Parts: sequence; C-alpha cells; structure tokens
Amino acid sequence: MTSSVLLLGQTLSFTANPMHTSVDDAAHWQTHGAVLIEGGIIAAVGERDAMRARYPMAKTVDYGDHLITAGFVDAHAHYPQTAIIASWGKRLIDWLSTYTFPEEMRFGDKTFATDIAQRYLDLTRANGTTTVATFCTIHPESVDAIFEAAEQRGQRIVAGKTCMDRNAPDGLRDTAQSGYDDSKALLQKWHGRERASYAITPRFSPTSTPEQLEAMGTLWAEHPDCLMQTHLSEQVDEIEWVKNLFPDARDYLDTYERFGLVGPGALMGHAIHLTPRERARMKDLDVSLVHCPTSNTFIGSGLFDMQGLTAEGHRIGLATDTGGGSSFSMLRTMAAAYEIGQLRGTALHPAQLYWLATQGSAQALRMEDKIGNIAVGMEADLTVLDLSSTPAIAQRSARANTPWEALFPTIMMGDDRAIKDVWINGKKG
Ligand SMILES: [Zn+2]
Repeated sequence: MTSSVLLLGQTLSFTANPMHTSVDDAAHWQTHGAVLIEGGIIAAVGERDAMRARYPMAKTVDYGDHLITAGFVDAHAHYPQTAIIASWGKRLIDWLSTYTFPEEMRFGDKTFATDIAQRYLDLTRANGTTTVATFCTIHPESVDAIFEAAEQRGQRIVAGKTCMDRNAPDGLRDTAQSGYDDSKALLQKWHGRERASYAITPRFSPTSTPEQLEAMGTLWAEHPDCLMQTHLSEQVDEIEWVKNLFPDARDYLDTYERFGLVGPGALMGHAIHLTPRERARMKDLDVSLVHCPTSNTFIGSGLFDMQGLTAEGHRIGLATDTGGGSSFSMLRTMAAAYEIGQLRGTALHPAQLYWLATQGSAQALRMEDKIGNIAVGMEADLTVLDLSSTPAIAQRSARANTPWEALFPTIMMGDDRAIKDVWINGKKG
C-alpha cells in the first residue's frame, strides 16, 4: 500500500482561467484546506477537518497559515546561462555575443554541464519552481546533463538541444544535418522517459539557415507529439536582422511557418513586436506565447501586450528567460508582469498573475492535465508559501482584508525566503 501524506494549510486552486472568467468563479481559496498526496498524485482536496476525519491514517504535515499552491512552471529558460545571469550593459545581439556564447561554449564538457544543471535545478527549486522548459546548448552533453539531473529529482522537465548553424562563433555551430541527427537521437533517448519531454529547439531564425529550419520542421513532422521552442520578435533590431536574412518572408513568424515550425505545441518566447498577421496566424494555429517580463525590461526589449493577446484568446505562459531574465524566481517574474501590465494600462489581478505562473504556463506546455494546479489526479508538484516571509511583507500582509491582499505583497516583494517547502512528484524536495 502506498503511504499517503496529508498537507494542511491554506490552499489555492483554479477551476477556470481568471484571465477570462471572474476571479471569484475561477479561483478557489480555502483558508482551512488540505491536500492528500498518494503515490506522487494528488488524491483528494478539501476542507481541513473533513479531510483529517476521512484520512486518519495519513501522515500529516501542518503548514498552519502558509499557502499551498501548485508548483511554479517556468515555460522558457536557458539553464546554461545560470552563471552569467545579471550581466551588465548589453542589448540582445551584443548580450549574446559578449556573455552568452562564450559561456555556452563550455557545455561540451559533460562534467561542467552537469554541475550547472544541478545548480540550476537547485536554484529553481529553492524558488518554488517544479517544472521548467529550458534551452540547452548545441552540445548533446548539455541535454543529457539536464535530463539526467531532473530524472534524479523525479522532476517534470522540457528541454532540447539548441540548434545554430550560422551567426554564432566557431565551436558553437552545428549543421542542418548534425542538428537534425543529434536532436533526433536525443529525442528518441529522452522524450517520454519518466517525466521528461523533448522540445525541438532552433534558437531563433538569425542563427539557423533555411536548411536547418527545414530540417527542424521535418523532425517535428516526424515527432508531432514533441514540443518546439524558439524565440520570436523580442527586439526591433532583431526583427530588422531577420528581414535582411529572409528577404522573401512575409514577417518574422513566416521564417518559421514556411518550414512547418508553427502549430500546436510551438512555444514562442517573447512575442512582443507582432504584426496583425502574426497574431492572427498564431491564434488560428493555437501557438503558445511565452511572456518573459524580467528579461524584456532587463535587456530593454519592449512591453508584451498581455491584455490584447489575452482578449484575442491566445495561449500564454509566463517565464523567467534565465539568464536574459534577471531572476530565477517566478514571484519576481509575476511582479515584472504586473509592472509591464501597468505600463500598458492594465493592472493584472494577483489571481491572474498566479494563474499565469502555474496553469497558464502548464497550458503553454500542453501539460495542464498533469501540472500547474491543485486538483484530484494531478501530479503532486506543490509549493508552500510563507505569506509573511520578511518584516516588510509581514507588516503589509497583516493589514490585508482579503486573501488576495495578503498574497500580493509576496508576489511583489517575495523571493526564495517566501518558499517554505517544495513537493516534487509527491516528495518533499
Ligand atoms: Zn530565451
């Protein structure tokens, strides 16, 4: 018989998307809640006293007033950039050449890659993140390193070999053929093994030839159950560059679309400066857009149109974009999404921010039936928040009149000190 664990505390779960449904109808906040975990799965959810009476044999962990939620899902990151996070003074293209490419060069060394992969998963777990979708480097060693590290922790993960066959330095380019061959071998090795999912990963159009993008499209057509992750329309200069590299393309999206890389399961990081055609096409094809707000302000990229894209019905996730993003924390990322919303004239509700960081990102990864929410049958990836983790937060939340008012200071000012515990696959991490 599997042993069961009953977690007691406040609980937050969603029955609908608060971007489209009123917060009161979409979000369920239980001040005396309980979550029963059995065999890595959420087996029951309910009111504290009733659950204790129903499951007297379960081992109990009492979190008091702490808030139990789904673990955070970071839908776009670059784990190889862990050690160069917060590098000063550059915009996208210069930032890649100055900081990113020299660091990524080191990941052909499996020992080095494993060290950073472990460090990255330690840092993200400490920040309450239980699933990430990450780019690797061009080296297969970098892909094995992160999948192995995640498997040791029983952690759900999406990753893929970053493919680049032009506009990258010597030692950091593959070819159309080797990009295809290596990606295929890694995909066959890892996709669907334990909790691993493979994402076909061309970095972005400027660093792939049309031949490589075509090869990626062929591979995706052969393995349509995989995800495909890349970048789209992050900076204005980048879009000009793409125009020069692909003079026949209708727009940036078309540089992917013409090679079969736009469809359900495609994850487009950033998606800031979009044309009406690109927006309509991505909506029609149910593409996932991934908002990376700390990155967008840090690198000076622009302001994502959350309100407009939400109204159009796009599938939208939230992400750190480590290390273009300036934080490993999805709390800080929610705060930045709030700030960008304010700069565009919309105040996102704490429920909307929290939904984006959990179920929204899970939907972007097409894993919403497995992760990103507290509900019976979901995988038991949970984060427990202390809503009074610092004196500044505690004195503000003490004044709260509603649960949302108690949560918002932690979203805006919280960090890893707010993460009381993390449960991954039903085990305390
Ligand atoms: Zn990125």
